Amino acid sequence: MKQKKKNYSKNFQQSKNHLVKEYVSELRQNPSSKDWVAIASRRVKKPEELIIKNQKRIVVPKKNCPFENLQKSGNKSPVLIKYLPNKKNWFLQIFENKYPAFQPNHNFITEKKVGPYKVIGGYGYHELLVLKDHYKLLADYSSKELAIILEALQERYCQIAQDKKIQYISIFHNWGKLAGASVYHPHLQIIAIPVIPSRLKHSLISSYNYWRKNHSCVHCEINNFELKEKKRILIKEKNVMAFSPFISVEPFAIRIIPIKHISHFEETPKEIINSIAIVLEKTLKILKKKLNNPDFNLFIHTAPTVEENKYNCYHWHIEIIPKISISAGFELSTGIEITVIDPNEAIKFLKS
Ligand SMILES: [Zn+2]
Ligand SMILES: [Zn+2]
Repeated sequence: MKQKKKNYSKNFQQSKNHLVKEYVSELRQNPSSKDWVAIASRRVKKPEELIIKNQKRIVVPKKNCPFENLQKSGNKSPVLIKYLPNKKNWFLQIFENKYPAFQPNHNFITEKKVGPYKVIGGYGYHELLVLKDHYKLLADYSSKELAIILEALQERYCQIAQDKKIQYISIFHNWGKLAGASVYHPHLQIIAIPVIPSRLKHSLISSYNYWRKNHSCVHCEINNFELKEKKRILIKEKNVMAFSPFISVEPFAIRIIPIKHISHFEETPKEIINSIAIVLEKTLKILKKKLNNPDFNLFIHTAPTVEENKYNCYHWHIEIIPKISISAGFELSTGIEITVIDPNEAIKFLKS
């Protein structure tokens, strides 16, 4: 097997003449996931350069929308409906996706081997939270309305979590084609699956190890660091803040997090949900205004529905990732994102 290596040492000696005095980027490690990110802010001169100017969002008219007449369009009956106070018309509905990626099944989750691969059935839930208004973007909702959306998600989360075959429940919102939204009408999605996804697993295990070693939560430490540094905070309320993480994986990425430790999204008390909604409203409005209504993904990272005692060390939060850049070969092959705006500069720009 051993092959003789070619002698390149002469060429390498010559390349040393090209050593630079200053680094053009910085590799930063996420203390929660242990993932690396490269902050290479010299590749862009100003944050403004990244904004897609003159972007014309194609507004799909109501008449082609599958969420206008829900049942006529073949959607299932809702599992949850919410009305606004004193309003007759529904405000939001949660129902099963017409084309679900996962479904509950009477059979147990059977495991089999296919060659070297482990395979289990796609057991789970795939539901949509559809908002009544076709033209109103998530950024246009008031904090009171956003709190109703968050509480409806908590309620449905708790119902699904009673299914003991489920290990993780993912909640997300895709806005725009670049973010993967196939339907224009604003909606969120809930996907519950019988495994803990590997990206979460890295963060959960690292958070657990950090807790055991330091007797503190890694996200609480990050929050304290951000509060002390003050450079990357976009909004701060009494219980909740929004900031651009030091290890931002995308330009203008924002994390919204309860300042004090709460591991499970569904257990968050109303007072804190209200603060989350206030910070979320402000954040979405700033991003819409300053980044010219960008496509974005919003998702919740929370502790799984299993091993509650172990993962009480986790600290739930919301991540908002504007789709400014596209992951390419290096990112896909290594998992290291190259972020071309320093999060300090991103916040300066968003606050300007
Ligand atoms: Zn619609
Ligand atoms: Zn914490």
